[in-house]
Amino acid sequence: MKGPNNHEDLHFLLLPFMASGHMLPMSDIAVLLARRGASVTLITTPLNATRLRPTLAPHHPLISLVALPFPPATDSGLPDGCESFDALPSRDHELAFLRATESLLAPTLRHLRARGRAPPSCVIADAFLPWAREIAREFCAPRLVFHGCACFATLCFHNLIAHGALARVGHERERRIFVPGMPHEVEITEEQLLVDVTRLDDFSVEMWEVGEAADGVVVNSFEELEREYLDVYREAAGKDVWMIGPVSLSNNPSNTMDRGGKASTDELRCLDWLDQREPKSVIYVSFGSIGRLSPPQTAELARSLESSGRNFMWVIKGNTNDNGLPEEFKEEPITERRMVVRGWAPQVAILSHGAVGGFVTHCGWNSTLEGVCAGVPMVAWPLFAEQFLNEKLVVDVLRVGVRVGVERPSGWAGEGVGVVGIETIERALEDVMEGGEEGVLRRVRAREIREMARKAVEIGGSSFVNMTRLIEYVSEYRY
Ligand code: UDP
Repeated sequence: MKGPNNHEDLHFLLLPFMASGHMLPMSDIAVLLARRGASVTLITTPLNATRLRPTLAPHHPLISLVALPFPPATDSGLPDGCESFDALPSRDHELAFLRATESLLAPTLRHLRARGRAPPSCVIADAFLPWAREIAREFCAPRLVFHGCACFATLCFHNLIAHGALARVGHERERRIFVPGMPHEVEITEEQLLVDVTRLDDFSVEMWEVGEAADGVVVNSFEELEREYLDVYREAAGKDVWMIGPVSLSNNPSNTMDRGGKASTDELRCLDWLDQREPKSVIYVSFGSIGRLSPPQTAELARSLESSGRNFMWVIKGNTNDNGLPEEFKEEPITERRMVVRGWAPQVAILSHGAVGGFVTHCGWNSTLEGVCAGVPMVAWPLFAEQFLNEKLVVDVLRVGVRVGVERPSGWAGEGVGVVGIETIERALEDVMEGGEEGVLRRVRAREIREMARKAVEIGGSSFVNMTRLIEYVSEYRY
């Protein structure tokens, strides 16, 4: 009989989307599969492969990293010129790089075969790569889709599309709509749903249809966090949904590793600075791998953090000098009270440091989950994509966060929205760090959920068992 970690006959082909927020969890999934004894081929861009190799290659001989020849990418992992919606000449340009991977992949797969690798027994592909359907068909392998979102957000989109609600979205961007078919009322504006509703084009439709036709869905979350939504989604999707997360926590139970494999600021410098701060005294501020605030908003946040009188560590992306950061922050990024990190920060390690008491986040799903795993209450400051839905999950459902009340998506580069004022930001910071009785309850809930997350990834926990089931499904699959 086969042991639980004896799956050398299985070969998973993993196709992550190239942006960090998609690629990092997929590389964690690769590690989880390799730990069960399966071999894994992870296909990504040269930049991502260079970043992942030091963390994956020496420790996981069952994982092969394959780099596609790909246009030069920026820090976020996206091709040069795609970081700002303004910089995108048209939606066609964006599609072009997604499509390019399709033509690049055929020779790569031939090359892999020539090197004698077994054909994949399963393809796990990001929802942004609908062409993965053909690859899976070619190999007669099951295809699982990875959305990179919470079950909550995936269900919202599923229901909006299935009920035709997105197709009806028009130009009344402030119009509020209720997401149909949810266990609780979820209200959102048309505009918050998508950065640009006019981008609901053929590609989005194809993505949706191909996702719907997948054999199963892999979710980086855990059942105890989103059970209600999981039950409804499973029923609605009519297929297996495996919640196997938080994948960063499974691979790193002590939560002390830098997952980016590329710390432009020395990890130790951040942790040393935190070591010298009082427990729970630091506000950690980060808007993810691509999110940026507009210069006036950056200036306002800087003023708020200064006037809060609290310690803070702030990660800032983008290299321009006119990003609104006050001169003294640039000249003296590290003081008693502040540390400004320009570049890539070891976020998982920072969040789990005992000195961090609050997390100002753009509500990217990975960051949100990392905040949950660390048991740190959050200030929800969504910028784009499904982050407005994650805000609702954090603030209204899980009740481990407060909102600053952003109304409109800003796009990756933070253009085109009003500035959240200093009073609002200060109030949110005060609420998350103190917040009276409700603040105490928020912190208690955050700690309880952290414990649930830890249990979920332990041997016998829900996510551990779901991974076993996923592997069994693939072992027994017959085309
Ligand atoms: N991240 C990091 N250091 C940084 C910026 C981001 O480690 O300086 C990691 C973060 O921990 C998370 C991922 O990058 O795992 C970002 O994903 P998320 O879904 O939160 O946001 P996105 O970048 O996709 O908007």
